[in-house]
Order: sequence, then structure tokens, then C-alpha cells
Amino acid sequence: MKVIFSGTGSSTGTPQLFCKCKVCLSENEKNKRSRFSLIISEQDTTVLVDTPFELRLQLLRAGIEKIDAIWITHPHSDHIAGIDDTRIIAFKNKESIPFFADAATMETIKLKYPYMFGENEYSSTPFLKPEIITSKPFDFRGISFLPIKHLHGSMDVCSFRSGNFAFLADVSKISEKEVGKLKGVKVLSVCTTVKQPHYKHMELEKVIKLIQKIDPKRAYLTHMNHHFEYDEIKSSLPPDIEPAYDGLEIIV
Ligand SMILES: [Zn+2]
Ligand SMILES: [Zn+2]
Ligand SMILES: [Zn+2]
Repeated sequence: MKVIFSGTGSSTGTPQLFCKCKVCLSENEKNKRSRFSLIISEQDTTVLVDTPFELRLQLLRAGIEKIDAIWITHPHSDHIAGIDDTRIIAFKNKESIPFFADAATMETIKLKYPYMFGENEYSSTPFLKPEIITSKPFDFRGISFLPIKHLHGSMDVCSFRSGNFAFLADVSKISEKEVGKLKGVKVLSVCTTVKQPHYKHMELEKVIKLIQKIDPKRAYLTHMNHHFEYDEIKSSLPPDIEPAYDGLEIIV
């Protein structure tokens, strides 16, 4: 499986508008983070995780030729505001895109973007075809999905494990039962938004503890805010954990 870290920034992106901190002013490309997304591919199937503001730029940069399905973790704007760019995916596929989200997330997105789900001015085929995620594992065109549910403040978020790879999107709390589903995973990526305690996000120290408890061979931090300087954070982490950066590609 190939995993592309197409967007590794928190909700404001880095550089953050109007900020003059050393990370926002840094010339290191690895400190320039667009909003969170992931692209996973296996054989002929490619699945996009989340549709952030910079989606179009991310897909161009990664040289993506097609997307077969979309998985949405939760309905915060930084994860869905680029949804309009998925119209072109539906045009190319000549069919509605299978669009995976849990029931509450689907409802919110349908309210915000009703035109993506019904008839539209170009076609009677909707752009997106809703597929509700429960906790049941399933396969989609040769890729396995085991949903992993966790909290982000009071909001439910839906991440997944696919074979040897798993990721946790915005997370403040995860149950032992869900942690158990991650045991034995080789590569784990965790949204690590903040260094300091925050009611909606596990801070860096807790994320490291969680990773060490799950004990993957390798872990990547993503969804980092502008307080994470790439070289500094990389040298401060245990050797099997590293920060991801926009455009990083790995084979799992
Ligand atoms: Zn987010
Ligand atoms: Zn800054
Ligand atoms: Zn969020």
C-alpha cells in the first residue's frame, strides 16, 4: 500500500496568516503545511481521506490520476471545505463517488453541501454517493477498512486501519477497545495538533505515549500546528516516530 501525506497541517495551516513566528517564517519546505488529508492506494484503487481547502493543489502535487472513493473523518471545515473540488473526480469517473462517513458526519455535510448529493445542473447523477460507516469492517475494491472511532472534544471521529497501516485523525480520547484494534499495526499516523494540553486534541506528550502503547514499527505525526518546527521536532522524538510533511510518500 502506498500512503501519501498530502496535507499535514492543523486547521489554520502553516504558515498561519499574519503570524511572524520562526516556523511561519521558515524557508524549510517541510514547515509549510496545508490542511489535513491522506491518499492511500493499493493495486488499482485509490482512496482519499478528507477534502481540505487545498485539495486541488494537493492532488496536483501528488500527480494523482484518479480517486475511487472518499473517506471523511469528521465535518470540521479544515477536513471538508475542499469538497467542491471533488466534482471533477465524479466527472472523470463518470459516476458518483462512493463517499464514506459516519451517519452524523454525513448529515452535517448534506446540510452544508446539498448540491453534492442530488441532481445538479450538469448531470442527473449526483457527485457523491453516501456510504455510511458503522463500526463494521468492510472491503472496498481490494482495500480493507476497519473503522476506528474516537473522540475529538465532544465530536465523534472516524479513522481506520487498513492492514498494516492505520491513522487517527483529530483525537482527544480513544477507548481501550479501539486501541485494541490497532495492535500489531506496522505504520501508524496520528494527528498531533498541539504541544500543550487542549480540550479537543491530545497534546504531543500524550500522543507519544499512545503510540508507544500501540507499538507500531514506525509512526508519523501529522495535522501539526505552527509550533512544530520540523527539524526540532524530528530530533526530539523517539527514533521510531517522526513528523510527516506535505508530499511525503511511504510504502507500507
Ligand atoms: Zn482538523
Ligand atoms: Zn506561526
Ligand atoms: Zn477537527
